[in-house]
Amino acid sequence: VFEDIKAAPADVIFALTASYAADTYDKKVNLGVGAYRTEEGKPWVLPVVKKADHILVDDNNLDHEYLPILGQKAFREASAKLILGANSKALAEGRVGAAQCISGTGAVYTGAHFLSKHYPIKGAACYISKPTWANHRAIFEGVGIPVLEYPYWDPATKGLDLKGMLGAMQSAANGSIFLLHPCAHNPTGVDPTPDQWRQIADVMEAKGHFTFFDCAYQGFASGSLDKDAYSVRYFVERGFELFVAQSFSKNFGLYSERAGNLTVVAKTPEIKNRIESQIAKAQRAVISNPPAYGSRIVSTVLTNEKLYKEWEQNLSTMANRIIHMRKALFDELTRLQTPGKWNHIVDQIGMFSFTGLTTPQVKVLKEKYHVYLTDNGRISMAGLNSKNVKYFAQAVDYVVRN
Ligand code: PMP
Repeated sequence: VFEDIKAAPADVIFALTASYAADTYDKKVNLGVGAYRTEEGKPWVLPVVKKADHILVDDNNLDHEYLPILGQKAFREASAKLILGANSKALAEGRVGAAQCISGTGAVYTGAHFLSKHYPIKGAACYISKPTWANHRAIFEGVGIPVLEYPYWDPATKGLDLKGMLGAMQSAANGSIFLLHPCAHNPTGVDPTPDQWRQIADVMEAKGHFTFFDCAYQGFASGSLDKDAYSVRYFVERGFELFVAQSFSKNFGLYSERAGNLTVVAKTPEIKNRIESQIAKAQRAVISNPPAYGSRIVSTVLTNEKLYKEWEQNLSTMANRIIHMRKALFDELTRLQTPGKWNHIVDQIGMFSFTGLTTPQVKVLKEKYHVYLTDNGRISMAGLNSKNVKYFAQAVDYVVRN
């Protein structure tokens, strides 16, 4: 039957991890995958997650029954409150819906799938930032929504191309869908300032565009849950109806547990109910109901004041170590007088830094130095630590000079 099937290309990031794992060189460095690592280069089970784990193990009322189709109620409510803020007017007005999804990826998919069926402007395109997380294109194209790009990264300033971004929003057909990263933009680490968000919102509003936020790093970027949610809350305050995909992979270190949520801010409670019913109908046919474990960990922490505070401390530990590594890398490149300006390393935020290294330079890093990163020059800051940052800086210095 399948004689003519063509092989699909391997996923770039996961292929990179496999090459790293197969490399026997003792100084090898993995800056590919977007997962937090400790100073020792190890995965970190958050102490607060361990505590929640014990609470769940000891809870005799828990069983392995199916969750409802839209997931665990406490998790959905706590997730929406986390991103919108406890004082959100939209929450008080009862027009916020939520669906527990298969982590951030599933939440983006669920929102995209809903839009492919129910967005009132037929044939509307989804604009994604150039560059963006590769899965955005795959997900939206996968549900049949045409994908276009808006400028985001300015190679000259190694910062935000605000003019290009606003220009694309202006010239897009009215009522287009725009996928925005609320914080810790992947892959660039470049976020708009509050004033730039205001300008973005002005155009989004004037053009009647639909906002789809993909929030994979709340609390992980700055260490402050409120600060990282600024853009979403600002848009909601201004009256936008919008979707927010939330991932708990990074901020809880729950990568494999696939805990995510799609928060829906609708115009009225009644419209919210209808949207939720359609999402439930679609979800039933894809996953039937979401997995319980990760969402129980998250809701246990989010609904317990003491654990919540502890979680904030764990978030600060991760965010601060990354910020510290940015400084260490910057200092080392400055000390080596590596040609070029490197201040973007410290200006960027979150898991990633878009170094500006070229694909040929990345190749040399890999072949000569056993340093693994994506061809676009993106490095996962979490892969750096005080033991390998000097080695990495020397490698960068070499490829820049040669
Ligand atoms: N969106 C963005 C922008 C991301 O960087 C990621 C993680 N790499 C995700 C969504 C989803 O991740 P997950 O499905 O593991 O929650």
